[in-house]
Amino acid sequence: MPEGIVRLVGAGPGNPGLLTIRAKELLESCHALVFDSLIHPAVLALVSPDCELIYVGKKSGGLTVHQETIQRTLVEKAKEGKEVVRLKGGDPFVFGRGGEEALFLRENGIAFEVVPGVTAASGAAAFSGTPLTQRKSNSTVVFVTGHEDPEKDTSMVDWKQLPKENSSLCIYMGVGNLSRIIGELLEADFDPNTPVVCVEWATLGRQRVCRSRLNMVVDDAKGFCLNSPAVIMVGGNATMGEKISWFEDQPLQGRRFVVTRSKGQASELSEMLERQGAEVLGLPLISISKHVDEETRTDVFAEIASYDWIVFSSPNGVRYFFDAFFETFDDIRSLGFLRIAAVGKATASEIKKYYVTTDLIPKEANAESLAEALVETESLDSSKVLIVTGNLGRDVLRSKLEEARAIVDRFEVYRTEPANLSDDPAAKELRSQGADAIIFTSSSGVKSFVDQAKDLALEEGANRPKTVSIGPITSATMSKSGMPTDFEAKEASLDSLVEVIKQEFGKASQ
Ligand code: SAH
Repeated sequence: MPEGIVRLVGAGPGNPGLLTIRAKELLESCHALVFDSLIHPAVLALVSPDCELIYVGKKSGGLTVHQETIQRTLVEKAKEGKEVVRLKGGDPFVFGRGGEEALFLRENGIAFEVVPGVTAASGAAAFSGTPLTQRKSNSTVVFVTGHEDPEKDTSMVDWKQLPKENSSLCIYMGVGNLSRIIGELLEADFDPNTPVVCVEWATLGRQRVCRSRLNMVVDDAKGFCLNSPAVIMVGGNATMGEKISWFEDQPLQGRRFVVTRSKGQASELSEMLERQGAEVLGLPLISISKHVDEETRTDVFAEIASYDWIVFSSPNGVRYFFDAFFETFDDIRSLGFLRIAAVGKATASEIKKYYVTTDLIPKEANAESLAEALVETESLDSSKVLIVTGNLGRDVLRSKLEEARAIVDRFEVYRTEPANLSDDPAAKELRSQGADAIIFTSSSGVKSFVDQAKDLALEEGANRPKTVSIGPITSATMSKSGMPTDFEAKEASLDSLVEVIKQEFGKASQ
């Protein structure tokens, strides 16, 4: 049996973009992932479908998995010959018990590697405009915990000895004990006027920043409802954010949107919203899997070169079609001289990945416009058209093309099924916190949302979301399902959708 290895990997403070390249490589290739709370769903989505996921964070009710158990799990999985990633928030060697785990692995003769991550203080500093050092005024940085092992009687932190001037104190795990900690600092003769900045959920769209002074921060934090996780930074530089904060200034920062997507797939829309500073909950409403009808496959591929057009109605269709195609053929030229149509830009860019150019993309990304654009080419009469689709593909396209006297074959290459939302982290967030808006980009997204509404019921106090639709077809489906459309994009495109979201929810609109 090959020998296993454990990688103690830092996931950074939350924002998936802050993951290191090494962490990403290891997540993509590991056989088992042992992870804590607060790991972003987009990071968890990097692992392969057959990777074993072992959650060792806080359970509901606040219970934690014992450190001993975690360590034993690591050893056990490595002994099975697995490549194990032990993923931790921030950096594994900063208040992360990474040191204990490394020691235990060494004692048990297990090979390991340590991959650093951006620690919360660095993330909070960067994303709140609070440099940790400053050439002329600030030359010492201290990372200190506000929460020590409750089993120890005496504190290991000597608050009196901490540097009082020209320094940045970064207090981790300090929210619960804030008034005691601040009391210690004041007693240790810290200037009551020392600036303090508390950064909650640093680096994420939901980041909030509370700026205060040492003698006022306990009240200010209470008024602000400061919650964990937060880093509390004490020192002269804590006022610099007033001049150089940048993250908070983004148009959608602090806003939370729900985007429907299919399981395991990144969403272009989420990225566009996150680039404007928003927090995005990606609800994996449906799971899409390759499902090629064998009989049709044989027929289609036997005469593939006789088609005049292939029409792709989604990026998934493209992917699963070419998968099947290359299982049968080993040369792209077996496609013949046909022309290719795609429903929209995202589908065309998926086609491009196979070094194939798309001949036709309609102005609007929907089946009706695609049919119209194809009819306008005046090439359909007696021509053979292959529509590549999933089990839920609408029949509009087929009937319109047949009206124009095309001979149409339908080739189903994937299947769409509802995903299980009861344990999904994004669905949990939505239920407990709500959101500013939920955004629908397709009729199938609306339908699956409605089908799964019982798993998405908001808890008391959650922020009730408005609804935003990408265009009239989606809005019509919403209205049929009894859902109002609060806002609709001017054109059925992602750019236009983001535009309307910025207009309605952006900082400039307030
Ligand atoms: N190993 C981690 C720290 C774990 S201790 C690291 O290097 O960052 C947990 C504490 O980290 C939290 O109580 C909080 O103080 C801090 N923390 C983690 N993620 C954070 C975030 N996104 N924003 C603010 N503080 C965070």
